[in-house]
Amino acid sequence: MSQLKLPEKAAITSRFTSDLHLLFRLFLFPLIAAVFLALSPVGQKSAEAIPLDGIWRYYDGVAPTSPEAIPGWLNQTIRGGFAGWNIYNGISHPNIDPSATDIWVTTYVPPHSFIQPTLYFITNNQAVEVFYDSHIIYKAGDIGEENYGTRWHLMDLPRDSSGRTLSFHLYSPINQRLGVINSPNIGNAIEQVLTIVWGDVMCLLALPLSLFIIVLVGIYYISHREKMYLYMLAFMLFYSLWLLATSNVRQVFLDAPVFWRNAQLLSIYMLCPLGNLMSRELVESRDRTPFSYLIYAYIGLALMSVLGEVMGFGTLESGVSLSYLLLGTAQLYIMYLIARSAFRGNKRSRALLPSVVAIPVLGFLDGLTIYYHLLPFSFYWFPLSIVFILYFVIRILQENFAAEQLLNDKNRELEQRVQIDDLTKCFNRSTLNGFLIRDAQTCRRSRVPFTVLMLDIDFFKKVNDEFGHPAGDKVLVSFAGTIRTLLDSRHTFIRYGGEEFVILCRDFSLPQAEELARTILLTVASTQLLPDTDKTITTSIGISLWHGESDTNLIKRADEALYAAKQGGRNCYRVEAE
Ligand code: GH3
Ligand code: MG
Ligand code: MG
Repeated sequence: MSQLKLPEKAAITSRFTSDLHLLFRLFLFPLIAAVFLALSPVGQKSAEAIPLDGIWRYYDGVAPTSPEAIPGWLNQTIRGGFAGWNIYNGISHPNIDPSATDIWVTTYVPPHSFIQPTLYFITNNQAVEVFYDSHIIYKAGDIGEENYGTRWHLMDLPRDSSGRTLSFHLYSPINQRLGVINSPNIGNAIEQVLTIVWGDVMCLLALPLSLFIIVLVGIYYISHREKMYLYMLAFMLFYSLWLLATSNVRQVFLDAPVFWRNAQLLSIYMLCPLGNLMSRELVESRDRTPFSYLIYAYIGLALMSVLGEVMGFGTLESGVSLSYLLLGTAQLYIMYLIARSAFRGNKRSRALLPSVVAIPVLGFLDGLTIYYHLLPFSFYWFPLSIVFILYFVIRILQENFAAEQLLNDKNRELEQRVQIDDLTKCFNRSTLNGFLIRDAQTCRRSRVPFTVLMLDIDFFKKVNDEFGHPAGDKVLVSFAGTIRTLLDSRHTFIRYGGEEFVILCRDFSLPQAEELARTILLTVASTQLLPDTDKTITTSIGISLWHGESDTNLIKRADEALYAAKQGGRNCYRVEAE
Protein backbone atom coordinates (compact mmCIF):
# COMPACT_ATOMS: atom_id res chain seq x y z
CA MET A 1 0.00 0.00 0.00
CA SER A 2 2.70 2.45 1.04
CA GLN A 3 4.47 1.85 -2.25
CA LEU A 4 1.33 2.73 -4.15
CA LYS A 5 0.94 6.10 -2.46
CA LEU A 6 4.17 7.61 -3.74
CA PRO A 7 3.41 7.86 -7.46
CA GLU A 8 -0.13 9.02 -6.59
CA LYS A 9 1.27 11.94 -4.60
CA ALA A 10 3.74 12.76 -7.32
CA ALA A 11 0.91 12.83 -9.86
CA ILE A 12 -1.12 15.20 -7.70
CA THR A 13 1.88 17.52 -7.24
CA SER A 14 2.64 17.65 -10.95
CA ARG A 15 -1.05 18.17 -11.67
CA PHE A 16 -1.10 21.01 -9.16
CA THR A 17 1.88 22.77 -10.76
CA SER A 18 0.37 22.38 -14.23
CA ASP A 19 -2.85 23.94 -12.83
CA LEU A 20 -0.85 26.89 -11.57
CA HIS A 21 0.93 27.24 -14.92
CA LEU A 22 -2.38 27.43 -16.76
CA LEU A 23 -3.82 29.97 -14.32
CA PHE A 24 -0.66 32.03 -14.57
CA ARG A 25 -0.81 32.03 -18.38
CA LEU A 26 -4.46 33.05 -18.34
CA PHE A 27 -3.62 35.87 -15.95
CA LEU A 28 -0.94 37.18 -18.27
CA PHE A 29 -3.62 38.13 -20.77
CA PRO A 30 -5.41 40.88 -18.75
CA LEU A 31 -2.09 41.86 -17.17
CA ILE A 32 -0.41 42.56 -20.53
CA ALA A 33 -3.53 44.37 -21.75
CA ALA A 34 -3.60 46.52 -18.60
CA VAL A 35 0.09 47.43 -18.86
CA PHE A 36 -0.30 48.19 -22.56
CA LEU A 37 -3.31 50.41 -21.93
CA ALA A 38 -1.73 52.14 -18.96
CA LEU A 39 1.24 53.06 -21.16
CA SER A 40 -0.96 54.09 -24.08
CA PRO A 41 -2.34 57.64 -24.47
CA VAL A 42 -5.62 56.45 -22.90
CA GLY A 43 -3.94 55.52 -19.63
CA GLN A 44 -1.54 58.48 -19.61
CA LYS A 45 -4.02 61.19 -20.40
CA SER A 46 -6.70 60.00 -18.03
CA ALA A 47 -4.43 60.92 -15.14
CA GLU A 48 -4.46 64.61 -16.14
CA ALA A 49 -8.06 65.34 -15.16
CA ILE A 50 -8.55 67.55 -12.07
CA PRO A 51 -10.94 66.18 -9.43
CA LEU A 52 -13.54 68.49 -7.93
CA ASP A 53 -12.34 67.87 -4.41
CA GLY A 54 -12.56 71.44 -3.13
CA ILE A 55 -15.28 72.79 -0.86
CA TRP A 56 -18.75 71.32 -1.38
CA ARG A 57 -21.88 72.83 0.11
CA TYR A 58 -25.50 71.75 0.30
CA TYR A 59 -28.61 73.83 0.87
CA ASP A 60 -30.81 72.80 3.78
CA GLY A 61 -33.56 75.39 3.24
CA VAL A 62 -36.47 75.78 0.87
CA ALA A 63 -35.27 76.55 -2.64
CA PRO A 64 -37.52 77.97 -5.38
CA THR A 65 -39.03 75.33 -7.64
CA SER A 66 -40.05 77.32 -10.73
CA PRO A 67 -37.39 77.39 -13.50
CA GLU A 68 -37.88 81.13 -13.88
CA ALA A 69 -37.12 81.87 -10.25
CA ILE A 70 -34.00 79.69 -9.99
CA PRO A 71 -31.44 81.86 -11.90
CA GLY A 72 -32.26 84.92 -9.79
CA TRP A 73 -32.08 82.92 -6.58
CA LEU A 74 -28.76 81.38 -7.61
CA ASN A 75 -27.33 84.77 -8.58
CA GLN A 76 -28.20 86.16 -5.21
CA THR A 77 -26.76 83.14 -3.41
CA ILE A 78 -23.48 83.34 -5.36
CA ARG A 79 -23.14 87.00 -4.60
CA GLY A 80 -23.80 86.25 -0.93
CA GLY A 81 -20.98 83.65 -0.96
CA PHE A 82 -23.39 80.78 -0.30
CA ALA A 83 -24.17 82.05 3.15
CA GLY A 84 -26.48 79.63 4.97
CA TRP A 85 -25.30 76.62 2.93
CA ASN A 86 -23.64 73.78 4.87
CA ILE A 87 -20.24 72.35 4.03
CA TYR A 88 -19.96 68.60 3.32
CA ASN A 89 -17.47 66.34 1.47
CA GLY A 90 -19.44 65.89 -1.76
CA ILE A 91 -19.10 62.11 -1.75
CA SER A 92 -21.37 61.11 1.13
CA HIS A 93 -25.03 61.73 1.71
CA PRO A 94 -25.50 65.05 3.59
CA ASN A 95 -27.47 65.04 6.79
CA ILE A 96 -30.79 66.45 5.54
CA ASP A 97 -34.47 65.94 6.27
CA PRO A 98 -35.11 62.19 5.73
CA SER A 99 -38.28 62.90 3.74
CA ALA A 100 -36.56 65.26 1.27
CA THR A 101 -36.56 64.13 -2.36
CA ASP A 102 -34.33 66.84 -3.85
CA ILE A 103 -31.24 68.76 -2.88
CA TRP A 104 -29.05 71.62 -4.12
CA VAL A 105 -25.27 71.22 -3.86
CA THR A 106 -22.50 73.46 -5.11
CA THR A 107 -18.72 73.68 -5.56
CA TYR A 108 -16.14 75.79 -7.40
CA VAL A 109 -14.40 74.89 -10.65
CA PRO A 110 -10.73 74.36 -9.71
CA PRO A 111 -8.08 76.43 -11.52
CA HIS A 112 -7.29 74.81 -14.87
CA SER A 113 -5.88 75.60 -18.29
CA PHE A 114 -7.78 73.12 -20.43
CA ILE A 115 -8.50 74.26 -23.96
CA GLN A 116 -11.75 72.34 -24.14
CA PRO A 117 -12.76 71.80 -20.49
CA THR A 118 -15.48 69.28 -19.77
CA LEU A 119 -17.16 68.22 -16.55
CA TYR A 120 -17.54 64.52 -15.87
CA PHE A 121 -19.35 62.81 -12.99
CA ILE A 122 -21.47 59.77 -12.16
CA THR A 123 -24.81 59.64 -10.38
CA ASN A 124 -26.77 56.79 -8.84
CA ASN A 125 -30.57 56.87 -8.89
CA GLN A 126 -30.71 60.64 -9.26
CA ALA A 127 -32.03 63.02 -11.85
CA VAL A 128 -29.72 66.00 -12.20
CA GLU A 129 -29.61 69.59 -13.44
CA VAL A 130 -26.24 71.36 -13.61
CA PHE A 131 -25.92 75.15 -13.39
CA TYR A 132 -22.83 77.08 -14.43
CA ASP A 133 -23.10 80.20 -12.27
CA SER A 134 -26.82 80.81 -12.64
CA HIS A 135 -27.35 79.24 -16.12
CA ILE A 136 -28.55 75.74 -16.60
CA ILE A 137 -26.04 73.85 -18.81
CA TYR A 138 -27.13 70.25 -18.47
CA LYS A 139 -30.11 68.13 -17.52
CA ALA A 140 -30.47 64.35 -17.23
CA GLY A 141 -33.65 62.64 -16.08
CA ASP A 142 -36.82 64.40 -15.02
CA ILE A 143 -36.93 66.17 -11.69
CA GLY A 144 -40.13 64.94 -10.07
CA GLU A 145 -40.06 61.49 -11.62
CA GLU A 146 -38.53 58.33 -10.26
CA ASN A 147 -35.09 58.05 -11.69
CA TYR A 148 -33.09 54.91 -11.00
CA GLY A 149 -29.85 53.68 -12.41
CA THR A 150 -26.22 54.64 -12.58
CA ARG A 151 -25.07 56.87 -15.38
CA TRP A 152 -22.15 59.03 -16.27
CA HIS A 153 -22.48 62.62 -17.41
CA LEU A 154 -20.19 64.66 -19.61
CA MET A 155 -20.71 68.35 -20.48
CA ASP A 156 -18.71 71.23 -21.89
CA LEU A 157 -17.61 74.15 -19.70
CA PRO A 158 -16.40 77.57 -20.88
CA ARG A 159 -12.65 77.85 -21.34
CA ASP A 160 -12.24 80.50 -18.66
CA SER A 161 -14.33 78.68 -16.07
CA SER A 162 -11.64 78.52 -13.35
CA GLY A 163 -13.02 79.58 -9.98
CA ARG A 164 -16.65 79.87 -11.16
CA THR A 165 -19.46 78.08 -9.38
CA LEU A 166 -21.09 74.82 -10.38
CA SER A 167 -24.41 73.98 -8.76
CA PHE A 168 -26.26 70.70 -8.99
CA HIS A 169 -29.94 70.21 -8.42
CA LEU A 170 -30.40 66.50 -7.65
CA TYR A 171 -33.64 64.61 -7.32
CA SER A 172 -34.15 61.10 -5.97
CA PRO A 173 -36.97 59.23 -4.27
CA ILE A 174 -34.24 57.10 -2.59
CA ASN A 175 -33.08 59.46 0.08
CA GLN A 176 -29.88 57.65 1.15
CA ARG A 177 -28.16 58.55 -2.10
CA LEU A 178 -29.29 62.14 -2.42
CA GLY A 179 -26.43 64.60 -2.89
CA VAL A 180 -23.79 61.96 -3.71
CA ILE A 181 -21.82 62.80 -6.85
CA ASN A 182 -19.25 60.20 -7.85
CA SER A 183 -15.88 60.87 -9.50
CA PRO A 184 -16.53 64.51 -10.49
CA ASN A 185 -13.62 65.95 -12.45
CA ILE A 186 -12.62 68.44 -15.10
CA GLY A 187 -10.48 67.56 -18.09
CA ASN A 188 -10.05 68.06 -21.81
CA ALA A 189 -13.00 66.66 -23.77
CA ILE A 190 -11.14 64.00 -25.69
CA GLU A 191 -9.29 62.84 -22.59
CA GLN A 192 -12.50 62.57 -20.63
CA VAL A 193 -13.94 60.33 -23.32
CA LEU A 194 -10.79 58.22 -23.12
CA THR A 195 -11.24 58.04 -19.34
CA ILE A 196 -14.70 56.62 -19.84
CA VAL A 197 -13.30 53.97 -22.15
CA TRP A 198 -10.43 53.33 -19.71
CA GLY A 199 -12.90 52.66 -16.91
CA ASP A 200 -14.45 50.09 -19.21
CA VAL A 201 -11.31 48.15 -20.02
CA MET A 202 -12.04 45.20 -17.72
CA CYS A 203 -15.62 44.82 -18.95
CA LEU A 204 -14.64 45.20 -22.58
CA LEU A 205 -11.88 42.61 -22.23
CA ALA A 206 -14.12 40.15 -20.45
CA LEU A 207 -17.16 40.48 -22.72
CA PRO A 208 -15.75 38.85 -25.89
CA LEU A 209 -14.21 36.06 -23.81
CA SER A 210 -17.52 35.52 -22.10
CA LEU A 211 -19.34 35.32 -25.45
CA PHE A 212 -16.70 32.89 -26.69
CA ILE A 213 -17.33 30.66 -23.67
CA ILE A 214 -21.08 30.79 -24.37
CA VAL A 215 -20.52 29.49 -27.90
CA LEU A 216 -18.14 26.79 -26.67
CA VAL A 217 -20.37 25.60 -23.84
CA GLY A 218 -23.43 25.88 -26.10
CA ILE A 219 -21.88 23.51 -28.63
CA TYR A 220 -20.92 21.19 -25.82
CA TYR A 221 -24.43 21.22 -24.38
CA ILE A 222 -25.98 20.41 -27.75
CA SER A 223 -23.75 17.37 -28.16
CA HIS A 224 -23.73 16.17 -24.54
CA ARG A 225 -27.05 17.29 -23.04
CA GLU A 226 -25.55 17.47 -19.57
CA LYS A 227 -27.43 19.64 -17.06
CA MET A 228 -24.19 21.22 -15.88
CA TYR A 229 -23.56 22.80 -19.31
CA LEU A 230 -27.08 24.20 -19.38
CA TYR A 231 -26.58 25.90 -16.00
CA MET A 232 -23.20 27.11 -17.15
CA LEU A 233 -24.72 28.51 -20.34
CA ALA A 234 -27.34 30.40 -18.34
CA PHE A 235 -24.66 31.60 -15.92
CA MET A 236 -22.49 32.93 -18.75
CA LEU A 237 -25.47 34.67 -20.41
CA PHE A 238 -26.23 36.61 -17.23
CA TYR A 239 -22.52 37.15 -16.69
CA SER A 240 -22.31 38.78 -20.13
CA LEU A 241 -25.43 40.82 -19.40
CA TRP A 242 -23.83 42.04 -16.19
CA LEU A 243 -20.66 43.05 -18.05
CA LEU A 244 -22.63 44.96 -20.65
CA ALA A 245 -24.93 46.58 -18.09
CA THR A 246 -21.91 47.61 -16.01
CA SER A 247 -19.78 48.98 -18.82
CA ASN A 248 -19.75 52.71 -19.59
CA VAL A 249 -20.29 52.21 -23.31
CA ARG A 250 -23.76 50.73 -22.68
CA GLN A 251 -24.97 54.34 -22.43
CA VAL A 252 -23.79 54.99 -25.97
CA PHE A 253 -25.89 52.09 -27.36
CA LEU A 254 -28.90 52.73 -25.21
CA ASP A 255 -29.22 55.75 -22.95
CA ALA A 256 -31.59 54.11 -20.51
CA PRO A 257 -30.02 53.96 -17.03
CA VAL A 258 -33.13 52.42 -15.48
CA PHE A 259 -33.08 49.56 -17.96
CA TRP A 260 -29.35 48.97 -17.45
CA ARG A 261 -29.66 49.15 -13.67
CA ASN A 262 -32.48 46.59 -13.77
CA ALA A 263 -30.44 44.40 -16.12
CA GLN A 264 -27.50 44.63 -13.73
CA LEU A 265 -29.66 43.80 -10.70
CA LEU A 266 -31.36 40.95 -12.53
CA SER A 267 -28.01 39.47 -13.50
CA ILE A 268 -26.74 39.67 -9.91
CA TYR A 269 -29.92 37.95 -8.67
CA MET A 270 -29.54 35.21 -11.31
CA LEU A 271 -25.77 34.67 -11.08
CA CYS A 272 -25.89 33.67 -7.40
CA PRO A 273 -28.27 30.69 -7.69
CA LEU A 274 -27.01 29.68 -11.16
CA GLY A 275 -23.39 29.56 -10.01
CA ASN A 276 -24.40 27.30 -7.14
CA LEU A 277 -26.63 25.12 -9.36
CA MET A 278 -23.66 24.56 -11.62
CA SER A 279 -21.30 23.83 -8.72
CA ARG A 280 -23.83 21.41 -7.21
CA GLU A 281 -23.57 19.22 -10.31
CA LEU A 282 -19.84 18.88 -9.80
CA VAL A 283 -19.59 17.70 -6.20
CA GLU A 284 -20.39 14.24 -4.84
CA SER A 285 -24.11 13.65 -4.31
CA ARG A 286 -23.81 13.40 -0.52
CA ASP A 287 -22.48 17.00 -0.41
CA ARG A 288 -25.28 18.53 -2.46
CA THR A 289 -27.85 19.43 0.22
CA PRO A 290 -26.18 22.65 1.48
CA PHE A 291 -26.00 23.86 -2.15
CA SER A 292 -29.74 23.33 -2.51
CA TYR A 293 -30.48 25.30 0.69
CA LEU A 294 -28.34 28.21 -0.47
CA ILE A 295 -29.94 28.16 -3.92
CA TYR A 296 -33.39 28.32 -2.29
CA ALA A 297 -32.15 31.21 -0.13
CA TYR A 298 -30.97 33.18 -3.19
CA ILE A 299 -34.15 32.45 -5.14
CA GLY A 300 -36.31 33.36 -2.12
CA LEU A 301 -34.39 36.60 -1.72
CA ALA A 302 -34.78 37.44 -5.40
CA LEU A 303 -38.52 36.71 -5.34
CA MET A 304 -39.04 38.79 -2.21
CA SER A 305 -37.06 41.69 -3.66
CA VAL A 306 -39.08 41.61 -6.88
CA LEU A 307 -42.33 41.36 -4.90
CA GLY A 308 -41.29 44.27 -2.67
CA GLU A 309 -40.37 46.29 -5.75
CA VAL A 310 -43.73 45.59 -7.39
CA MET A 311 -45.46 46.64 -4.18
CA GLY A 312 -43.55 49.92 -4.28
CA PHE A 313 -41.00 49.40 -1.48
CA GLY A 314 -38.00 49.75 -3.78
CA THR A 315 -36.51 46.48 -2.48
CA LEU A 316 -34.78 45.48 -5.71
CA GLU A 317 -31.75 47.56 -4.71
CA SER A 318 -31.59 46.64 -1.03
CA GLY A 319 -32.07 42.92 -1.78
CA VAL A 320 -28.72 42.97 -3.57
CA SER A 321 -27.03 44.02 -0.32
CA LEU A 322 -28.56 40.93 1.31
CA SER A 323 -27.13 38.85 -1.57
CA TYR A 324 -23.73 40.31 -0.74
CA LEU A 325 -24.34 39.28 2.86
CA LEU A 326 -25.00 35.67 1.78
CA LEU A 327 -21.90 35.83 -0.45
CA GLY A 328 -19.81 36.82 2.54
CA THR A 329 -21.25 34.15 4.90
CA ALA A 330 -23.09 31.03 3.66
CA GLN A 331 -21.10 31.01 0.45
CA LEU A 332 -17.96 30.44 2.54
CA TYR A 333 -19.31 27.04 3.58
CA ILE A 334 -19.92 26.16 -0.08
CA MET A 335 -16.33 27.20 -0.83
CA TYR A 336 -15.20 24.84 1.94
CA LEU A 337 -17.26 21.94 0.49
CA ILE A 338 -15.81 22.42 -2.98
CA ALA A 339 -12.29 22.80 -1.60
CA ARG A 340 -12.73 19.57 0.38
CA SER A 341 -14.03 17.74 -2.67
CA ALA A 342 -11.11 19.13 -4.71
CA PHE A 343 -8.50 18.00 -2.20
CA ARG A 344 -10.12 14.58 -2.06
CA GLY A 345 -9.25 14.29 -5.75
CA ASN A 346 -12.48 15.31 -7.55
CA LYS A 347 -11.03 16.73 -10.77
CA ARG A 348 -14.09 18.80 -11.65
CA SER A 349 -14.15 20.40 -8.20
CA ARG A 350 -10.47 21.15 -8.57
CA ALA A 351 -11.15 22.93 -11.84
CA LEU A 352 -13.94 24.93 -10.22
CA LEU A 353 -12.16 25.88 -7.00
CA PRO A 354 -10.36 29.04 -8.28
CA SER A 355 -13.67 30.42 -9.67
CA VAL A 356 -15.61 29.52 -6.54
CA VAL A 357 -13.13 31.48 -4.43
CA ALA A 358 -12.55 34.35 -6.85
CA ILE A 359 -16.12 35.17 -7.90
CA PRO A 360 -17.60 35.89 -4.44
CA VAL A 361 -14.39 37.60 -3.31
CA LEU A 362 -14.36 39.91 -6.36
CA GLY A 363 -18.12 40.52 -6.06
CA PHE A 364 -17.72 41.29 -2.37
CA LEU A 365 -14.76 43.58 -3.15
CA ASP A 366 -16.92 45.48 -5.63
CA GLY A 367 -19.60 45.84 -2.97
CA LEU A 368 -17.02 47.31 -0.57
CA THR A 369 -15.41 49.51 -3.24
CA ILE A 370 -18.73 51.03 -4.25
CA TYR A 371 -20.12 51.39 -0.74
CA TYR A 372 -17.02 52.98 0.79
CA HIS A 373 -15.80 54.79 -2.38
CA LEU A 374 -12.44 53.08 -2.07
CA LEU A 375 -11.32 54.15 -5.54
CA PRO A 376 -11.44 57.67 -6.96
CA PHE A 377 -12.78 56.39 -10.30
CA SER A 378 -15.41 53.92 -11.42
CA PHE A 379 -13.83 50.47 -11.45
CA TYR A 380 -15.13 46.92 -11.09
CA TRP A 381 -13.06 43.98 -9.94
CA PHE A 382 -15.66 41.39 -10.87
CA PRO A 383 -14.80 41.14 -14.62
CA LEU A 384 -11.40 39.76 -13.58
CA SER A 385 -13.29 36.56 -12.70
CA ILE A 386 -13.44 35.75 -16.43
CA VAL A 387 -9.86 34.49 -16.07
CA PHE A 388 -10.96 31.95 -13.47
CA ILE A 389 -14.04 30.98 -15.47
CA LEU A 390 -11.90 30.45 -18.55
CA TYR A 391 -9.57 28.28 -16.49
CA PHE A 392 -12.57 26.22 -15.33
CA VAL A 393 -13.92 25.78 -18.86
CA ILE A 394 -10.53 24.76 -20.24
CA ARG A 395 -9.96 22.25 -17.43
CA ILE A 396 -13.48 20.77 -17.67
CA LEU A 397 -13.24 20.36 -21.44
CA GLN A 398 -9.77 18.85 -21.06
CA GLU A 399 -11.14 16.38 -18.51
CA ASN A 400 -14.00 15.52 -20.84
CA PHE A 401 -11.77 15.04 -23.84
CA ALA A 402 -9.47 12.82 -21.80
CA ALA A 403 -12.41 10.78 -20.46
CA GLU A 404 -13.89 10.41 -23.94
CA GLN A 405 -10.52 9.40 -25.35
CA LEU A 406 -10.16 6.77 -22.64
CA LEU A 407 -13.65 5.45 -23.36
CA ASN A 408 -12.96 5.30 -27.10
CA ASP A 409 -9.69 3.48 -26.51
CA LYS A 410 -11.41 1.00 -24.18
CA ASN A 411 -14.20 0.41 -26.70
CA ARG A 412 -11.75 -0.15 -29.52
CA GLU A 413 -9.74 -2.52 -27.35
CA LEU A 414 -12.89 -4.44 -26.39
CA GLU A 415 -14.04 -4.62 -29.99
CA GLN A 416 -10.66 -5.99 -31.03
CA ARG A 417 -10.58 -8.43 -28.16
CA VAL A 418 -13.89 -9.89 -29.35
CA GLN A 419 -12.57 -10.20 -32.91
CA ILE A 420 -9.20 -11.71 -32.19
CA ASP A 421 -8.40 -15.29 -31.29
CA ASP A 422 -6.50 -15.36 -28.02
CA LEU A 423 -4.16 -18.22 -28.90
CA THR A 424 -3.05 -17.56 -32.46
CA LYS A 425 -3.82 -13.78 -32.64
CA CYS A 426 -5.61 -14.44 -35.95
CA PHE A 427 -9.11 -13.01 -36.50
CA ASN A 428 -11.68 -15.48 -35.18
CA ARG A 429 -14.40 -17.18 -37.17
CA SER A 430 -17.08 -14.61 -36.23
CA THR A 431 -15.33 -12.05 -38.44
CA LEU A 432 -15.27 -14.26 -41.56
CA ASN A 433 -18.57 -13.16 -43.09
CA GLY A 434 -17.85 -9.48 -42.58
CA PHE A 435 -14.41 -9.72 -44.17
CA LEU A 436 -15.78 -11.85 -47.04
CA ILE A 437 -18.37 -9.19 -47.88
CA ARG A 438 -15.85 -6.36 -47.53
CA ASP A 439 -13.20 -8.04 -49.72
CA ALA A 440 -15.69 -9.21 -52.33
CA GLN A 441 -17.03 -5.67 -52.67
CA THR A 442 -13.57 -4.15 -52.88
CA CYS A 443 -12.49 -6.62 -55.57
CA ARG A 444 -15.69 -6.19 -57.57
CA ARG A 445 -15.32 -2.40 -57.49
CA SER A 446 -11.68 -2.51 -58.58
CA ARG A 447 -12.25 -5.47 -60.94
CA VAL A 448 -9.51 -7.59 -59.43
CA PRO A 449 -9.64 -11.32 -58.57
CA PHE A 450 -10.38 -12.57 -55.09
CA THR A 451 -9.19 -15.99 -53.89
CA VAL A 452 -9.46 -17.98 -50.67
CA LEU A 453 -7.03 -20.46 -49.15
CA MET A 454 -8.25 -22.97 -46.57
CA LEU A 455 -5.56 -24.68 -44.50
CA ASP A 456 -5.74 -27.70 -42.20
CA ILE A 457 -2.75 -29.05 -40.29
CA ASP A 458 -2.05 -32.68 -41.15
CA PHE A 459 -2.47 -35.34 -38.47
CA PHE A 460 -2.73 -32.73 -35.77
CA LYS A 461 -4.51 -35.13 -33.48
CA LYS A 462 -1.28 -37.17 -33.34
CA VAL A 463 0.67 -34.11 -32.12
CA ASN A 464 -1.74 -33.78 -29.23
CA ASP A 465 -1.66 -37.49 -28.54
CA GLU A 466 2.13 -37.76 -28.66
CA PHE A 467 3.27 -34.50 -27.08
CA GLY A 468 0.25 -33.33 -25.13
CA HIS A 469 -2.29 -30.57 -25.62
CA PRO A 470 0.01 -27.69 -24.53
CA ALA A 471 2.55 -28.72 -27.18
CA GLY A 472 -0.32 -28.78 -29.69
CA ASP A 473 -1.15 -25.22 -28.68
CA LYS A 474 2.45 -24.16 -29.24
CA VAL A 475 2.36 -25.67 -32.70
CA LEU A 476 -0.79 -23.69 -33.48
CA VAL A 477 0.89 -20.47 -32.31
CA SER A 478 4.09 -20.99 -34.32
CA PHE A 479 2.13 -22.28 -37.34
CA ALA A 480 0.12 -19.02 -37.40
CA GLY A 481 3.26 -16.96 -36.77
CA THR A 482 5.16 -18.64 -39.59
CA ILE A 483 2.36 -18.11 -42.09
CA ARG A 484 1.87 -14.49 -41.01
CA THR A 485 5.44 -13.72 -42.15
CA LEU A 486 4.40 -14.68 -45.71
CA LEU A 487 1.33 -12.38 -45.83
CA ASP A 488 0.85 -8.68 -46.57
CA SER A 489 -1.89 -6.04 -46.32
CA ARG A 490 -3.99 -7.74 -49.02
CA HIS A 491 -4.44 -10.81 -46.83
CA THR A 492 -6.84 -11.46 -43.99
CA PHE A 493 -5.82 -14.35 -41.77
CA ILE A 494 -8.64 -16.08 -39.90
CA ARG A 495 -8.68 -19.07 -37.53
CA TYR A 496 -11.61 -21.04 -38.89
CA GLY A 497 -11.65 -23.46 -35.92
CA GLY A 498 -9.32 -26.01 -34.29
CA GLU A 499 -6.32 -26.45 -36.59
CA GLU A 500 -8.09 -25.00 -39.63
CA PHE A 501 -7.33 -21.53 -41.02
CA VAL A 502 -8.64 -19.37 -43.87
CA ILE A 503 -6.65 -16.75 -45.78
CA LEU A 504 -8.68 -14.22 -47.80
CA CYS A 505 -6.52 -12.90 -50.66
CA ARG A 506 -7.68 -9.61 -52.15
CA ASP A 507 -6.35 -8.81 -55.62
CA PHE A 508 -4.96 -12.36 -55.95
CA SER A 509 -5.42 -14.44 -59.11
CA LEU A 510 -5.51 -18.26 -59.01
CA PRO A 511 -1.86 -18.59 -60.14
CA GLN A 512 -0.85 -16.09 -57.43
CA ALA A 513 -2.85 -18.05 -54.83
CA GLU A 514 -1.21 -21.27 -55.97
CA GLU A 515 2.18 -19.62 -55.65
CA LEU A 516 1.34 -18.54 -52.11
CA ALA A 517 0.09 -22.09 -51.29
CA ARG A 518 3.38 -23.60 -52.54
CA THR A 519 5.39 -21.13 -50.44
CA ILE A 520 3.30 -21.93 -47.36
CA LEU A 521 3.71 -25.71 -47.87
CA LEU A 522 7.49 -25.37 -48.22
CA THR A 523 7.95 -22.93 -45.34
CA VAL A 524 5.76 -24.88 -42.91
CA ALA A 525 7.42 -28.19 -43.76
CA SER A 526 10.90 -26.74 -43.38
CA THR A 527 10.22 -24.87 -40.12
CA GLN A 528 10.66 -26.62 -36.79
CA LEU A 529 7.21 -25.92 -35.32
CA LEU A 530 7.68 -28.36 -32.47
CA PRO A 531 11.06 -27.52 -30.89
CA ASP A 532 13.28 -30.20 -29.35
CA THR A 533 11.74 -32.91 -31.53
CA ASP A 534 12.39 -34.15 -35.03
CA LYS A 535 8.66 -33.98 -35.78
CA THR A 536 7.85 -32.34 -39.09
CA ILE A 537 4.52 -30.56 -39.29
CA THR A 538 2.79 -30.20 -42.64
CA THR A 539 -0.48 -28.74 -43.84
CA SER A 540 -2.93 -29.28 -46.67
CA ILE A 541 -4.49 -26.41 -48.60
CA GLY A 542 -7.67 -25.95 -50.65
CA ILE A 543 -8.01 -22.96 -52.99
CA SER A 544 -11.16 -21.37 -54.39
CA LEU A 545 -11.73 -18.34 -56.65
CA TRP A 546 -14.60 -15.88 -56.26
CA HIS A 547 -16.92 -16.04 -59.26
CA GLY A 548 -18.75 -12.77 -58.76
CA GLU A 549 -21.75 -11.40 -56.93
CA SER A 550 -23.93 -14.50 -57.05
CA ASP A 551 -21.12 -16.68 -55.67
CA THR A 552 -22.02 -17.73 -52.11
CA ASN A 553 -20.09 -21.01 -51.98
CA LEU A 554 -16.58 -19.68 -51.91
CA ILE A 555 -15.71 -21.22 -48.50
CA LYS A 556 -17.49 -24.49 -49.29
CA ARG A 557 -15.47 -24.93 -52.51
CA ALA A 558 -12.22 -24.16 -50.67
CA ASP A 559 -13.20 -26.79 -48.08
CA GLU A 560 -13.90 -29.34 -50.83
CA ALA A 561 -10.54 -28.55 -52.42
CA LEU A 562 -8.92 -29.04 -49.01
CA TYR A 563 -10.61 -32.42 -48.70
CA ALA A 564 -9.23 -33.29 -52.12
CA ALA A 565 -5.74 -32.30 -50.93
CA LYS A 566 -6.11 -34.56 -47.89
CA GLN A 567 -7.24 -37.35 -50.23
CA GLY A 568 -4.32 -36.57 -52.48
CA GLY A 569 -1.83 -37.47 -49.76
CA ARG A 570 -1.64 -34.28 -47.61
CA ASN A 571 1.22 -31.67 -47.59
CA CYS A 572 -0.13 -30.45 -50.94
CA TYR A 573 -2.72 -28.05 -52.34
CA ARG A 574 -5.71 -28.50 -54.62
CA VAL A 575 -7.68 -25.90 -56.59
CA GLU A 576 -11.49 -25.97 -56.61
CA ALA A 577 -13.09 -28.14 -59.25
CA GLU A 578 -14.33 -26.01 -62.17
P1 GH3 B 1 -6.17 -34.55 -40.71
O1 GH3 B 1 -4.81 -34.62 -41.32
O2 GH3 B 1 -7.14 -35.40 -41.42
O3 GH3 B 1 -6.63 -33.14 -40.57
O4 GH3 B 1 -6.00 -35.15 -39.28
P2 GH3 B 1 -6.14 -34.37 -37.92
O5 GH3 B 1 -5.68 -35.22 -36.83
O6 GH3 B 1 -5.43 -33.08 -38.02
O7 GH3 B 1 -7.67 -34.11 -37.87
P3 GH3 B 1 -8.77 -34.15 -36.76
O8 GH3 B 1 -9.89 -33.27 -37.18
O9 GH3 B 1 -9.10 -35.61 -36.53
O10 GH3 B 1 -8.09 -33.63 -35.49
C1 GH3 B 1 -8.00 -32.27 -35.18
C2 GH3 B 1 -7.53 -32.18 -33.77
O11 GH3 B 1 -7.20 -30.85 -33.40
C3 GH3 B 1 -8.58 -32.61 -32.78
C4 GH3 B 1 -8.46 -31.60 -31.63
O12 GH3 B 1 -8.20 -32.21 -30.40
C5 GH3 B 1 -7.31 -30.77 -32.00
N1 GH3 B 1 -7.49 -29.41 -31.65
C6 GH3 B 1 -8.50 -28.59 -32.03
N2 GH3 B 1 -8.34 -27.38 -31.47
C7 GH3 B 1 -7.20 -27.44 -30.72
C8 GH3 B 1 -6.52 -26.52 -29.90
O13 GH3 B 1 -6.90 -25.36 -29.75
N3 GH3 B 1 -5.39 -26.93 -29.26
C9 GH3 B 1 -4.92 -28.16 -29.40
N4 GH3 B 1 -3.78 -28.51 -28.75
N5 GH3 B 1 -5.55 -29.05 -30.15
C10 GH3 B 1 -6.67 -28.73 -30.80
MG1 MG C 1 -9.35 -30.62 -39.09
MG1 MG D 1 -6.04 -31.73 -39.47
